[in-house]
Amino acid sequence: MKELKYDYLIVGSGLFGAVFAHEANKAGKRCLVIDKRNHAGGNVFCEHIAGINVHSYGAHIFHTDNKQIWDYINQFASFNHYVNSPLACSGNKIYNLPFNMNTFYQLWGTKTPAEARYILNQQITSLNIKDPANLEEQALSLVGTTIYEKFIKHYTEKQWGRDARYLPAFIIKRIPLRFTYNNNYFNDRYQGIPIGGYNSIIDKMLSGIETRLTSDFFKDRQFYESLANKIVFTGKIDEFYNFRFGPLHYRSLKFVHEVLDMEDYQGNAVVNYCDTSAPFTRIIEHKHFEFGQQSKTVVTKEYSYEGTSDAEPYYPVNDPGNMSRFKLYQQISSNEPNVIFGGRLAEYKYYDMHQIIASALKKLQMNLEWN
Ligand code: FAD
Ligand code: UDP
Repeated sequence: MKELKYDYLIVGSGLFGAVFAHEANKAGKRCLVIDKRNHAGGNVFCEHIAGINVHSYGAHIFHTDNKQIWDYINQFASFNHYVNSPLACSGNKIYNLPFNMNTFYQLWGTKTPAEARYILNQQITSLNIKDPANLEEQALSLVGTTIYEKFIKHYTEKQWGRDARYLPAFIIKRIPLRFTYNNNYFNDRYQGIPIGGYNSIIDKMLSGIETRLTSDFFKDRQFYESLANKIVFTGKIDEFYNFRFGPLHYRSLKFVHEVLDMEDYQGNAVVNYCDTSAPFTRIIEHKHFEFGQQSKTVVTKEYSYEGTSDAEPYYPVNDPGNMSRFKLYQQISSNEPNVIFGGRLAEYKYYDMHQIIASALKKLQMNLEWN
């Protein structure tokens, strides 16, 4: 085989690409990272505005139950003690999330787990859903009608642009349900926001690795393919195959950032807008991730829309139609010895950051072992 300049061309400098490149480089492999954006880091990228770290592509809270992954990411940053406790606004009232004793008290005045369970069980039993087949059935069978109607149905339809009956059940299982007065959005043992921000993590990961920004793989595919023995592809898998089985659907987001001349806008980092009165899904107030004391504040409204070909793809829509198309792409991709597909877009998977790190470490390890 002809000796090429790089062992790996890594398409995408998001968390998957950065972890893969970092570890491959450590293992002595020659890596080139390219990204079509003008910055590295993919969706964990932050901008510094009014002295505040602004999560440019939506709030990113690191959380994991896996000690190895926690130790891994802590090599690159220390984490603060932020605990995500979003609020839900519905019918112009504020409630606690995830669904817990505080929410039940705010809804029904129930004070004990037994009282809350009684109400939920009455609703759930009367629905008689045996084997939840979609998001709506799954939600109803876990939390009953009141919570579904007030907090889930409309938020979900805004976020996904689809009826909740056409969405997979697993999406709603991301949200804990508990019968204690605990507003922590995650059940994981470890969580926080990196002190110094996500950019410094990515910079450390990519330190000493050649990285070319504003470089789109598809703009000069033959050239890029000629540079390396292997490609690590973290872009859209359907685009890699020129959409031959049809496009996969992704939800995109419009982030509307505003700098406000006030210390505190909403008193919390995340407020979800769960009914149809607001067109956006949530408002993020970034300073609260780091307990900021600045005189100004930056807030971001998130508007979700169906990604067309030039929109940024953020969320894979894992409904049955898209999943059967994805399986076709997956089948041909498994016969591609020199391409490693990884990350949210190439694996078409609703991954969080800790899962991305685990996947990148595993895929590199497997690749090194095979060679
Ligand atoms: P990406 O970050 O999407 O990176 C892919 C990179 O590839 C991009 O930089 C892109 O420009 C580049 N690329 C694509 N195509 C090409 C091409 N043709 N040529 C060159 N470059 C290309 N996870 C959590 O754990 N906690 C959270 O709180 C959380 N909140 C989130 C909020 C939002 C709104 C979103 C969208 C995601 C959130 N996530 C969260 C998930 C997290 O962002 C992802 O798990 C992770 O960032 C995915 O990393 P990635 O490298 O797979 O993809
Ligand atoms: N969800 C909801 N109401 C909420 C929060 C979440 O209905 O107040 C549903 C919605 O379908 C969303 C899913 O739960 O897409 C997962 O929520 P999560 O907060 O994990 O979404 P992410 O932060 O990944 O956008």
